[in-house]
Amino acid sequence: HAKESGRAQMQAFRPDIHSTARSRFVLESELRHAIQHNQLEVYYQPIVEPHNGEIVSNEALVRWNHPVRGWMSPIEFLDVARNAGLMQDLGMSVLRRVCKDRSEAKRQGIVMSTTAINLSSEQVMDARLPLRIQDILDEYGLSGDQLEFEVTEDAIKGDSKSLQATLNELVNLGSRLSIDDFGTGYSSLSRLKHLPFSKLKIDRSFIREIPGDADDCAITLSILGLARGLGMRVVAEGVETEEQRQWLTEQGCDLLQGYLFSKPVPIATLLSYDDQLRQSAL
Ligand code: C2E
Ligand code: MG
Ligand code: MG
Ligand code: MG
Repeated sequence: HAKESGRAQMQAFRPDIHSTARSRFVLESELRHAIQHNQLEVYYQPIVEPHNGEIVSNEALVRWNHPVRGWMSPIEFLDVARNAGLMQDLGMSVLRRVCKDRSEAKRQGIVMSTTAINLSSEQVMDARLPLRIQDILDEYGLSGDQLEFEVTEDAIKGDSKSLQATLNELVNLGSRLSIDDFGTGYSSLSRLKHLPFSKLKIDRSFIREIPGDADDCAITLSILGLARGLGMRVVAEGVETEEQRQWLTEQGCDLLQGYLFSKPVPIATLLSYDDQLRQSAL
């Protein structure tokens, strides 16, 4: 009896472990395939001027249209990519897609606002990153000033001369750098001073309860003060309500990003926004 129930248990249990490991393995190889065949998509979210909502730049956000699972967000597959050592390839695939989109827009005579691309820590630890980026820019006939790069605080926490050199080289390509998700990581303020960042993005978690939560308001105000002191501009992430927009505008926040203005959208939609702005400026 013991043997029988033991086996029953194992049968109930084993296929589960097996299928979890298997589906992870499958997902990993599907992701590798998608990266190699340029099947990852990029959505773009506008970043706007607080007073008039004019689009000043946009952020590229990777998406995966999985053949069976459908549209997947980065939080669902970046861990898979990281564990499989695919972050560099994924990053290059995103950069390539952004450059392709920009060169097609240019051919259509559409002026596209600057695109900010997220860089992973794996990418910024690679001293050859600036050269790799330069190669792709050259391939598409684009210049570095059309791109910005976002790096999270945690990706720059290691104290290395080579990281500093890499970031300086990105600036020398003409690209501006932003610190992403500011306030959630562990960067020291003295390090910030020495690194060539021109923007600070306040993490969405601090914006969510504004203006109702006094602590979040105080944190946001102190980040605005810090940035001003260091000569950096501030972007508020995750702006969803008119009340948030109003408060942030009154406090002198330089730029806003969030669902209030637009969710991340496919390139054609972004171009229709940009195009509308261009037409109305004529
Ligand atoms: P992030 O760089 O901080 O990007 C902002 C995230 O907040 C995006 O999520 C965006 O869709 C979401 N968001 C923007 N406005 C709002 C809002 O008003 N409300 C809410 N609830 N969410 C908002 P997404 O696209 O799921 O990306 C999540 C994270 O994945 C990004 O956070 C970034 O860290 C990472 N990621 C995305 N694309 C790439 C990429 O190409 N390379 C790398 N290395 N990381 C990426
Ligand atoms: Mg970002
Ligand atoms: Mg962010
Ligand atoms: Mg964030």
